[in-house]
Amino acid sequence: MIKVKKRRVLLLPGDGIGPEVIAEVKKVINWFNDKKSLDFEIEEDLVGGISFDKHGTPLTDEVFYKALESAVIMLGAVGGPKWDGVEFSKKPERALLKLRKELKLFANLRPAICFEQLVNASTLKPEIVSGLDILIVRELTGGVYFGEPRGIKPIENGERKGVNTHTYTSSEIIRVARVAFDLAKKRSNRVISCEKSNVMEAGQLWKEEVQSLHDKDYKDVELSHMLADNCAMQLVRNPKQFDVILTDNLFGDMLSDEASMLTGSLGLLPSASLGAKNKDGEMRAMYEPIHGSAPDIAGKGVANPIASILSFAMALRYSLDLDKEAEALEKAVQEALNDGLRTKDIMSDKMKEVSTSQMGDAIISKLQ
Ligand code: NAD
Repeated sequence: MIKVKKRRVLLLPGDGIGPEVIAEVKKVINWFNDKKSLDFEIEEDLVGGISFDKHGTPLTDEVFYKALESAVIMLGAVGGPKWDGVEFSKKPERALLKLRKELKLFANLRPAICFEQLVNASTLKPEIVSGLDILIVRELTGGVYFGEPRGIKPIENGERKGVNTHTYTSSEIIRVARVAFDLAKKRSNRVISCEKSNVMEAGQLWKEEVQSLHDKDYKDVELSHMLADNCAMQLVRNPKQFDVILTDNLFGDMLSDEASMLTGSLGLLPSASLGAKNKDGEMRAMYEPIHGSAPDIAGKGVANPIASILSFAMALRYSLDLDKEAEALEKAVQEALNDGLRTKDIMSDKMKEVSTSQMGDAIISKLQ
């Protein structure tokens, strides 16, 4: 059994803008080490396309074992058109799915918070998004992305058939629902659980298990159920009706991308993927911005590092029990925005456009 090293932070920058945004996270970690003597041990390695180019695989065994030993994995992003032709099992994105699955990171937390300074960056009217604070809890290791059988196979009359299987067991549903209920208690105490129980048996089981867990252990939390397609519509109609949204892997993928646009830019949204605590209280976790490798802007120094920096704030809070430091970092981000500093993706009139590293430096200067 590989033990988790409590202060070990593994940086996996990955591809595209990944290395650019993770470089800013590294500066933040070094600042905490230098100024607050927090003795984080930083390790850094390859993942995704860059690992495939060097080693012929998107995730080597060596990196996988480093991940097993690390309390915190900070991932940038993987993938890009360069690897479009690569065989499916070697695609950069497979590294991510393997890390999530093998480290059993079943609960994906995706906050969508609209910063007051950026209310106008959203495509929705300011009054719809001002004050928005949603937390999406997405199941991450089950459902259609992992279910078997899967594949593409030839069938009669020269046709091919693509198969993926959407499955959930009771325990997979219950453990992620518990995370959502526990987090709701620290917020506005409301959970809306989303599935497609009208057309999918797995959705019906989802709804029943969430309801019975609620009735057994979380009667004090307000629970309601919503069909996932309705949730997609309600998110743009009246997003502030939501507090915690609990949903499965597939619907969570879409709903959280949709929610991200309420806040203005993909470049602002962090995420945490948490595993279960073992009997010694140790937990494995991976933190990453929700955006991808953004090949269209990679190498230009314009990527927004805020999503990655806020992902590290989540790591401080959920993995390292450093709530005060997490708050300080979130406040530093707000203050840099208050000063009118904007990366290109959130630039607006009368604001000052800054590069990726200038935004990182500004946030660090606010931490001082
Ligand atoms: P994307 O998130 O990379 O980019 C979508 C759009 O948002 C682009 O216009 C991009 O420039 C912009 N954007 C994203 N992050 C930004 C940032 N930090 N600052 C400013 N602008 C930003 O999604 P995509 O283009 O669909 O995917 C590109 C590649 O990334 C694909 O290979 C995809 O598989 C991969 N991907 C990886 C992850 C991950 O590693 N977790 C997630 C999604 C997509």
